[in-house]
Amino acid sequence: MDEADVANDRAEQFIAEALKAARLKKNEAPSTGVCRSCEELIEAERLRINPTARLCAECAAEDEASRKRAHRVGG
Ligand SMILES: [Zn+2]
Repeated sequence: MDEADVANDRAEQFIAEALKAARLKKNEAPSTGVCRSCEELIEAERLRINPTARLCAECAAEDEASRKRAHRVGG
């Protein structure tokens, strides 16, 4: 399986997860499936847990860490 196949597989997985999520949560727009920060595909496993995720796991962890830092500074 080459890289294009893997990407395709992930995209297909995402679409399946997004459709499932849309059915479950009609009020909330499902994730685009692409990380807002690094523009990589968000992990299908992550979308299963959080269908509205806007960041991939890596960027979400960074985002959370920076938010905690900001919170600490803000007092
Ligand atoms: Zn990312």
